[in-house]
Amino acid sequence: MREDICTIPISEVFEPMDGCPICRMRNTLEKRMIDYIMGAAMMEPDVRLETNKKGFCEKHFSQMAKQRGRLQLALILDTHLNEFDVSSTSKLYHMAANAQDSCFVCEKIEWGFERLISTTHRMYETEADFRKLFDSQPEFCLPHYKILMDGCNKKTMKKYSGEFEKNLYKITLSNIKLINSDIKKFCSMFDYRSRDEGSDFGNSRDSIERAIKFLTSREIEI
Ligand SMILES: [Zn+2]
Ligand SMILES: [Zn+2]
Repeated sequence: MREDICTIPISEVFEPMDGCPICRMRNTLEKRMIDYIMGAAMMEPDVRLETNKKGFCEKHFSQMAKQRGRLQLALILDTHLNEFDVSSTSKLYHMAANAQDSCFVCEKIEWGFERLISTTHRMYETEADFRKLFDSQPEFCLPHYKILMDGCNKKTMKKYSGEFEKNLYKITLSNIKLINSDIKKFCSMFDYRSRDEGSDFGNSRDSIERAIKFLTSREIEI
């Protein structure tokens, strides 16, 4: 598999200043991987061997199904199903148990994601312009707050780990407060007392979607 699929310029994901940049990083990686699986990877026998063995999770199957190319997906499913050892009940059980948390796309994304996150830390440590760009982000979602904090320590960031933690915390905290107050406003709109005052939902209208996105890093379809 070509490794450059997982290479994304960090500034490209931080520059738009719209939502969590790490979500954008993950989404770009995910889209590239799905495009690759449904396209060029069809012709790469070593990748096909691996996808036949590992299969995909529900989330990534559904992203693949939304792509054009039903035949490609059918061919991938065909060779994946052929891989199943169904010669006895215990062998089939073993296959079923292993299939639960096995996904080729998840695995590759995790690999690429780890590298991109450590590049982010390294750039914060060494580039003043990037520090400014990072510190002025509008938000980080909760799962990505954790991932960014996990990789931050004195070893990876000798000089700027304290500043990194402080700014990441500040941005995330103000976002939690904002989302929480919009959710409260949304709830209050159902209170009979607010009915006659001509008040409207305002920014709280999509607060459920925004709160779930903040908590899970994923958009929900309603
Ligand atoms: Zn995120
Ligand atoms: Zn997956």
